[in-house]
Amino acid sequence: MQIDLTGKRALVTGANSGLGAAIATALGKAGARVAINYVVHPENARAVADTIESSQPLTLQADVSSPDAVATMFQQLDTTWGGLDILVNNAGIDGARAVAWEVDPSTWRKVMDINLFGAFLCCREALQRMTKQNAGVILNITSVHEVIAWSGYSAYTSAKAGLGMLTKTLAQEAAPFGVRVLALAPGAIKTPINESVWRDPKMLRDLENKIALGRMGVPEEIANLVVTLVSDVASYVTGTTLFADGGMTDYPDFAHGG
Ligand code: NAD
Repeated sequence: MQIDLTGKRALVTGANSGLGAAIATALGKAGARVAINYVVHPENARAVADTIESSQPLTLQADVSSPDAVATMFQQLDTTWGGLDILVNNAGIDGARAVAWEVDPSTWRKVMDINLFGAFLCCREALQRMTKQNAGVILNITSVHEVIAWSGYSAYTSAKAGLGMLTKTLAQEAAPFGVRVLALAPGAIKTPINESVWRDPKMLRDLENKIALGRMGVPEEIANLVVTLVSDVASYVTGTTLFADGGMTDYPDFAHGG
C-alpha cells in the first residue's frame, strides 16, 4: 500500500538526528510538507531537509523545553503554512547514568523538561490549532522504558511513562474534535543516543540478548511505522501506545525457562 500524505503539514521535533531525521525524511517522501525542528546544529537540519527538497521543508530552531521558543515555532508555522496537521514529538535525551540518590536534581529535571514538558508544550500548541480545524494527529515517541524499568535512568523512565499517560489523556480530550493522539514506543534502535552500546561488541551482545528478534532496529523501521500511524490507514487508532521493539517487551529470556 502506498501512503500519500500530500497536502499534510507535519512538524517533527528533534529532527536533525537519528529517529527524528528518518521520520522527517519518510514523511517528506510520502508527500507531506515537513518542518524539521532542531535545537543545535542547523547544518544537520539542512542536511535532512536536502533529502526531501521536493516537498519544500522548513527548518525551525527551538528548544522544546522553552514555552516561549515553542510558542514562537508554532507562530512561524502559522505564518508559513497557516496551521498544522501532524505533530511528531520525538525530541528527547536519556541523561547521564546515575542512581536516584546520586543524580544531580537539575540533570533529572532537564530530562523531564525535554522529554515530557517539551512534548506537552508542543501538544498544547498543536491541539489549540487541531481542535479548531477538527482534524489532526499527534504521535509521541515514547520508549520501551514506558514500561521497562532502567536502573540509573529514573528521569528517562518517568518521563516516558508520563508521556504514555499524557498521550492517553490528551486523546480523550481531543477525540470529540476528530483529533487522534497516540504513542509509538521503540525498542533499541541504532542511533547516536545509544552509540556507546552498539560500538562495544560485548554491550551490543548483551543488548541483543534482550531482544526476541536478536538485533537492534534501524531508524527506517520506526519512520515507516510513523508514516502509517499518522495516515488515515490508522484512522481508528488513538489513546494507545504501539510497541515496535523486536520483541523486547516479550521478555525473550523466558524462552529459556521461567
Ligand atoms: P538522537 O540523540 O539521535 O536524537 C535526539 C534528538 O532530540 C536530537 O535531534 C536532539 O538534538 C533533539 N533534542 C534534544 N534536546 C532537545 C531540545 N531541548 N529541543 C529540541 N530538540 C532536542 O536520539 P534518537 O535515538 O533519535 O532519539 C529520538 C527519540 O526516540 C527520543 O525521544 C528517544 O528517547 C526515543 N527513543 C530512542 C530509542 C533508540 O533506541 N534510539 C529507543 C526508544 C526511544
